[in-house]
Amino acid sequence: MIRTLAVALGLSVVLSSGTTFAAVSLAPEVDLIPGEFTPGTQPDGNTIVIRGRDGLLVFDTGRHREHTQAIIDFARGERLSVKVIVNSHWHLDHVGGNPMLREAFPDARVYASGAIDAALHGFLADYRVSLQKQLDAAADDTAKRATRDELAIIDAGTRLRPDKVITLTAERDLAGRKVRVGLARDAVTAGDVWLFDPASGVLASGDLVTLPVPFLDTACPEGWRKALDTLHAVPFKLVVPGHGEPMHRKQFEAYRTAFGNLLNCAVSARTKGQCADEWLHDVGPLVPASRQKFAHALMDYYMDKSLRADAQHTAALCAAT
Ligand SMILES: [Zn+2]
Repeated sequence: MIRTLAVALGLSVVLSSGTTFAAVSLAPEVDLIPGEFTPGTQPDGNTIVIRGRDGLLVFDTGRHREHTQAIIDFARGERLSVKVIVNSHWHLDHVGGNPMLREAFPDARVYASGAIDAALHGFLADYRVSLQKQLDAAADDTAKRATRDELAIIDAGTRLRPDKVITLTAERDLAGRKVRVGLARDAVTAGDVWLFDPASGVLASGDLVTLPVPFLDTACPEGWRKALDTLHAVPFKLVVPGHGEPMHRKQFEAYRTAFGNLLNCAVSARTKGQCADEWLHDVGPLVPASRQKFAHALMDYYMDKSLRADAQHTAALCAAT
C-alpha cells in the first residue's frame, strides 16, 4: 500500500500512526504484532513472530519506526535474537523495518523474492521523485519529518534487499523451525512470498489477503486470483493477512470468492459502485459497517487504476502469467 493512493483519494496523509503495538498470541510460539491502517495514514503491514530453535523468525517488518521498535522490544522481552526475516513483498509497509532490524540483530538473514530490484529502479525511484517534491512543498515540520522518514527507507536501498532470494515454493528450516515458504509470481507484486507454519497451522499471507479491499496498486489481478487458489490448498487453521485481523478458513474462503467475483464484475457492464457493493456483500462482516465508506472509496480508485486500467498497463504487471 503506497502513499500515492492516499494522495489520489484527497486524504490528508499522516505518516506516523502513533499506535501502540501490543503483541497478540496466535498459538504457542506464534505472535502477531498488528499493523495499523486508518484512513489518511500510511499503513504498517502485520508482523508475525515465530519462535524457532535458533531464535526468532520475523515475517514482515513494518514501515514506521514505532512498529519496528515493537518487534525489537518483543525480541528483547523474550531474550531471543531475530535470526531470519521473511518479507512478503517489497512495499514499504512490509520491508521498511529491515534496516532497523538488521542494525539491532546483525546476524539476521533476510529472505524475499527478487522483485524489489526492479521496484528500486522503477516504482520506488518514481515514488522518491514525488516524495522529494512533497518535501520541498511541505508546510510544517511534522510533514517534513514524515516525508524524510519515507525517503530514508527508500534510500536504505540494499539494506531493504534480501540476502537470500526465494525463487520457488519449498519446505525450509528457518531459525530452527520447519516451515513452508511459498512464492507467487505476478500477484500483489511481481514476486509475493507467503509462509505456512505447520506446527501451529498459521499461514502468513502478506497482502494476498488484505482488507478492506485488495490493494491493487502494483498487482496483476489474474495472478493474484491464482495465488489465492494456491493458498486455498494449504492446510492452514488461521491466516494472518497483510492488513487486518486473522481469519479462519471460512472467512478466507469468503475473501477468495469475493476476489473472484470482483474480477468478474470488473469485466462486466456493471458500474464501479455495483462492483463495490457486491464486494462488500461477499466479504460480509470482514468489513464492518464503520469501514464500508472507506472501502467504497478505495474500490472506486482501484477500479480505474487497476481492474479497468488499459490492457497495456495490466500486461506489464502480468508479464509472467
Ligand atoms: Zn501492505
